[in-house]
Amino acid sequence: MAYTLINARPAGRPASAATSPTALAAGQGALVDSFKRRITYLRLSITDRCDLRCTYCMPERMEFLPKKDVLSFEELDQLVTAFASFGVDKLRITGGEPLVRKDVMELMARFSRHLGNGLNELTMTTNGTLLSKYAGELSSIGVRRINISLDTLKRDLFEKISRRDSLGDVMKGIDAAIAAGLKVKINTVALRDINEGEIPDLIRFAHNRGADITLIETMPMGEAETDRVEDFLSLNKVRADLSKQFTLTDLNYTTGGPARYVRVEETGGRLGFITPLTHNFCESCNRVRVTCTGRLYTCLGREDGADLREAMRADPSGGLLRQTILGAIERKPKGHDFDAARLSTPASPRTMSHTGG
Ligand code: SAM
Ligand code: SF4
Repeated sequence: MAYTLINARPAGRPASAATSPTALAAGQGALVDSFKRRITYLRLSITDRCDLRCTYCMPERMEFLPKKDVLSFEELDQLVTAFASFGVDKLRITGGEPLVRKDVMELMARFSRHLGNGLNELTMTTNGTLLSKYAGELSSIGVRRINISLDTLKRDLFEKISRRDSLGDVMKGIDAAIAAGLKVKINTVALRDINEGEIPDLIRFAHNRGADITLIETMPMGEAETDRVEDFLSLNKVRADLSKQFTLTDLNYTTGGPARYVRVEETGGRLGFITPLTHNFCESCNRVRVTCTGRLYTCLGREDGADLREAMRADPSGGLLRQTILGAIERKPKGHDFDAARLSTPASPRTMSHTGG
């Protein structure tokens, strides 16, 4: 078998004891792929629906999935329990827009019972439009950090990019998150000639509020209606431009995600770069994604994976689910297949809203 089990441990206890196939059967083992990468981070999409329509993410007339195809709360909970027992200790909830799922806080509360008992971190990526309503509750169930997407500070440009006039709600959401004591990270997709000139202002905006900010290159995911070749902005260029007005010092800091960080000396804040197209971050990949339909993807840019919904529905005992997860980790590819030269053709037919960013 290409996967290896290491540091078998009951959920919540420190990894220590050596393991055996018996430990796997008992549900105690770490997920290590055939390239010796240990999988400790799950990004779970709880809905494909969204209240925005960002041009790089989905078409204006996005067709959402029928509700019956989307995992129930019980199935989502079963998945999280299985991954936590395999040593996955970081869970990021995403979407679509996770906060538009009905009764989302009931679901988050269910996940939060694994905190300190398998999970070390429960976090979320959100567009922020509904955060003023939920920030306090998220904090009270044990969420400590949150990623909020924000591509511009200009109301008209926000409406152009997201096709909705919601910048005011996002701003209220950011304020509410900070007031609730959540550590905020702003995520900004860098778009050539669209928000390119605004990046220094976005950095100051985040750092003035004690937030980190991460810049992301557009990825060729799904059919968007924008021209990705036209909009693609290399973060190498952004960094070179920023260096003309800021002093950027490389940091060893990591949040367990793919971003490489620098400190901006003039603001004292952290700035991250996620560069899937110009830098290969696959060698240290520790994460997998599960869509809201229960499809496990072991690599963002490839189709390899497994149908966990089918496994759960075929065998309610959970045995098949565990086997299916292990089989998929065994097949996790060495790296993604994104290529800046082929940006106009999606490397994956899935949109980010389907896979979960
Ligand atoms: N709706 C939430 C949000 O916008 O934060 C969570 C889901 S969204 C798919 C997660 C992240 O993916 C967002 O930061 C978004 O900007 C980013 N994203 C979406 N489509 C992308 C693409 N084609 N390339 C790069 N980033 C993308
Ligand atoms: Fe919705 Fe997030 Fe996609 Fe924008 S990036 S359309 S907010 S899922």
